[in-house]
Amino acid sequence: MTERLLAQRTTDDDRSMENVLRPQSFHDYVGQERMKESLRICIDAALQRSEALDHTIFYGPPGLGKTTIAHIIAKEMGASLRSTSGLVLAHAGDLAAILTNLQAHDVLFIDEIHRLPASVEEALYPAMEDYQLDLVVGQGPAARTVKLDLPPFTLVGATTKAGALTSPLRDRFGLVYRLDFYSPTDLERIVTRSAGVLGTSIDHAGAAEIARRARGTPRIVNRLIRRVRDYAQIKAEGHISRQVAQEALVWLGVDSAGFDDMDRKILMTIIEKFNGGPVGVESLAAAVQEEKGTLEDVYEPYLIQAGYLDRTGRGRQATKLAFDHFSKPTDQLF
Ligand code: ADP
Repeated sequence: MTERLLAQRTTDDDRSMENVLRPQSFHDYVGQERMKESLRICIDAALQRSEALDHTIFYGPPGLGKTTIAHIIAKEMGASLRSTSGLVLAHAGDLAAILTNLQAHDVLFIDEIHRLPASVEEALYPAMEDYQLDLVVGQGPAARTVKLDLPPFTLVGATTKAGALTSPLRDRFGLVYRLDFYSPTDLERIVTRSAGVLGTSIDHAGAAEIARRARGTPRIVNRLIRRVRDYAQIKAEGHISRQVAQEALVWLGVDSAGFDDMDRKILMTIIEKFNGGPVGVESLAAAVQEEKGTLEDVYEPYLIQAGYLDRTGRGRQATKLAFDHFSKPTDQLF
């Protein structure tokens, strides 16, 4: 159960609920203040000039609000959002079908944009730069290129792997934002708002307890509140206090740091198998049977930010905080 609760990837259960809990406006979008302020100015300026917003890319670990902010941008621009993913757009023709159906100032959201095949990415360049699409019609010697004009639109890209973007693609985004993990205070605001939307009674201490264990991630805090709500409904007449939240989180197998099974496995492997590190990321990935990229982009950022893991020139190292968390003696540490 912990694996699914804290996993950063989206589950089907999330998808149905996320639309209910997803903030619809800047006002409800908690935190990321600098990004919001910058976006507000750029959106207002584009609206005043009756232009599309500049192409925008958001990067950062899963569940931090990239899709949500794309929806808010479309809404603020008074435009529609078309959503797709780098995994789905297999051919330039698929992209052409979407682009030619956009209205002026619409937002095309491409999640996991680093996964676009090269041919689709190349077709995007003139579309982004000049709102033009070069379509190849026919085959063999009879093939010819037709130029199509597109309405001015905004491409909003999201990626967990900023480093995997090619530079020609990266350079074509006018606005680039990195999303940070959320502070416990911000997560508390999110969990309190979500409880309100779900019609669940929660007090400040109950919200703080859930927020503290959500790995800095709104998607996870929303997942936890839904399960804690079930527990409170059956065991505590529906109210979530600190005590009820603590009991529910124990029941759910979420530990005091909010680690999931993979976090624990990563840190315990470094501590026990590699004497606390440093260990190269390839050896670590092999030992925990996870892809190197997933380790780097999905699991490590939170562990590093929260102070459990160090990324050094010689490899990954568990910190004193990690040793203490698992009650391991720190005499191997220097
Ligand atoms: P990403 O696209 O980065 O993986 P999402 O935008 O799908 O993440 O966010 C996951 C869920 O977390 C959303 O459905 C939303 O309910 C919640 N969420 C994300 N960011 C915020 C925020 N800043 N304020 C409130 N809720 C948020």
